[in-house]
Amino acid sequence: MQHGDLHWKNSQGPSSSQFGEVYYHSKNGLKDHRAMFLQGNQLPKRWHGQNFVIGETGFGAGLNFLSSWLEWKRNRQNSERLHYISAEQFPLSRADLQAALAPWSELAPFTKQLLKQWPRAWAGFHRMHFEDGITLDLLLGDASEMWQNMNASVDAWYLDGFSPNKNPQIWQGELFQAIANCSHQQTTLASSHFTSSICHQLAEIGFAAKQGTAAGQFCKTTNSDIAEVAANSLTEQPVEQPIIVVGAGLAGCHLARRLAEHGQRVILLEQNSQVALGASGNPAGLLKPLLHLQPSKREIFHNIGYFYSLRRIEQLSQTSDQPIWNPCGIVEQPGKHSDNRLASMLQKRPALNLVAQLIPATANQTNAQASSLIIDQAGICAPAKICHLLIDHPSIELKTGVNVAHLEQHNQFWKLFDQQRLLVGQANNVIFCPGHLHQLPEQFDGLLTRPLQGQVSQIKSNKTISHPAICGKSYIAKIPGTSDQYCIGATFNRGELNTEVDSQQDQQNIAALQQLLPEEYDQLKPELISATSGIRATVPDYTPIAGALKPGLWINTGHGARGLVTAPLVAEILTSQLCNLPYPNDLSSFIDPSRKAARVKRD
Ligand SMILES: Cc1cc2nc3c(=O)[nH]c(=O)nc-3n(C[C@H](O)[C@H](O)[C@H](O)COP(=O)(O)OP(=O)(O)OC[C@H]3O[C@@H](n4cnc5c(N)ncnc54)[C@H](O)[C@@H]3O)c2cc1C
Repeated sequence: MQHGDLHWKNSQGPSSSQFGEVYYHSKNGLKDHRAMFLQGNQLPKRWHGQNFVIGETGFGAGLNFLSSWLEWKRNRQNSERLHYISAEQFPLSRADLQAALAPWSELAPFTKQLLKQWPRAWAGFHRMHFEDGITLDLLLGDASEMWQNMNASVDAWYLDGFSPNKNPQIWQGELFQAIANCSHQQTTLASSHFTSSICHQLAEIGFAAKQGTAAGQFCKTTNSDIAEVAANSLTEQPVEQPIIVVGAGLAGCHLARRLAEHGQRVILLEQNSQVALGASGNPAGLLKPLLHLQPSKREIFHNIGYFYSLRRIEQLSQTSDQPIWNPCGIVEQPGKHSDNRLASMLQKRPALNLVAQLIPATANQTNAQASSLIIDQAGICAPAKICHLLIDHPSIELKTGVNVAHLEQHNQFWKLFDQQRLLVGQANNVIFCPGHLHQLPEQFDGLLTRPLQGQVSQIKSNKTISHPAICGKSYIAKIPGTSDQYCIGATFNRGELNTEVDSQQDQQNIAALQQLLPEEYDQLKPELISATSGIRATVPDYTPIAGALKPGLWINTGHGARGLVTAPLVAEILTSQLCNLPYPNDLSSFIDPSRKAARVKRD
């Protein structure tokens, strides 16, 4: 997608070359925005103990978002969360955003946080979590398409963006229909554009100009007193507590943590003696994007997940005294792709340069013969440590040694039993995160995952390799927090259910390392120190299976060989569904358990 083209030639303020209009007026920009959008929606008055959702049609230079954040910090009373959703078709580059926001010193602490998480211009949904209970959903793409895709209940709209005569395509019926779909009876709306066409379209969807206020302020026609009625409108529904999560790998631990962060009490049941003894038990794994010659829905999903995981792991690592993340970049050697194919892939699809750059072998630190890709934001995670860190939350209670073998539905809740038919828990909402679907209660019978066993070997070497993470047909990754230990692997054995560590698979990993680093291998003199073996739960369409199967019974599995990429995003989507928070429909349907690929084929 194209960046917004910012220039400073206009004396009134920074402006857009695409639309020939200013992002804000340098003289009174912040004051104008506050008067128009905050006061226009009776904010902060309506933030009394309420979680609140603001929707916006054009993010621009982010002045509305940041001034709302500032106001929220000062006047949110005892409200916990502000969810801000904004669409933008031409996002500014980070450098331009920084320049555009530099004049506003009172916003500087928030600007700094925004810039840190500001996404690359990869189209689609980007969720960011900030201090003060702020979540920003930045929807990169056409505003009406993006908003039509959102499942959200917006309390106040900021109808902002370039004016109808400069940017007519945005102010169409589809956008207003999407606004209507994402509004409720107490929703208010403030607009910087007050043309008769906009007023007419707003009237069509049930918004009327509010009497006795400045032009541009609207409320739903059925609503006589916003402040009074709004006090009763809660966007986040409390879910009956506690919620039970079954399975303490990356999927279950990420989910338990997000639910707990949203105020839910979580009981986490695990059959093993501790967390992360299944597929998530490796000391190191690679967090990297998906690069395909042809764009696909799968690639969009995985890369949205990748960017979300990067932000999440970065934030988690700030709270950890253990090293869980090394954002060292990954050198990806051509492997099965020929040199030319890689180069032409990046040429044909410039969007891929957002996630990977091709560097010539000479400039590359490895001794690869052909050109390699360097994936600059990617890096090495410590999956097992991440699981331990995630469940370290006062609202999560871990119970180990509990195998859930049977389920019974009783009116509004589910009863969980072990193999001896002893009751081990009951709750309104139960989410199974079991990895490979094996010996589960009969309620999961129609679902399909295929086991793909794999082993990672840990080696020690006194020689430092040329880059901490190198990936081709196999990979080597330095274990975070160590100076001389690496994970190498991994093996792939379809249909295998045995997870005993196997010395033959260690030898396969050593042989693969020799092929990966032919020049460096002899000096490495790797010493095998241990290994971990697990089962990847794969799905024919390489996409997780996550969502509700029946009222109160949920599944979260199928993370295959990319759980570090997919588990955080899937946890976020499920948490949003369970807690009635905003989420994009396309991503949730993509992982829907009722889709064909997730189902056992019947003859
Ligand atoms: C060798 C190997 C290398 C990998 N490398 C990478 C990598 O580099 N990058 C990457 O992104 N991904 C990688 N993966 C994939 C990633 O590790 C998985 O996608 C991820 O760990 C899956 O997490 P999960 O929570 O779904 O499953 P698991 O980690 O297997 O967790 C499932 C948990 O559920 C428990 N459970 C199951 N049934 C029950 C029950 N009935 N009652 C109670 N508890 C139950 C299990 O005991 C287990 O603890 C790798 C996987 C393997 C095996």
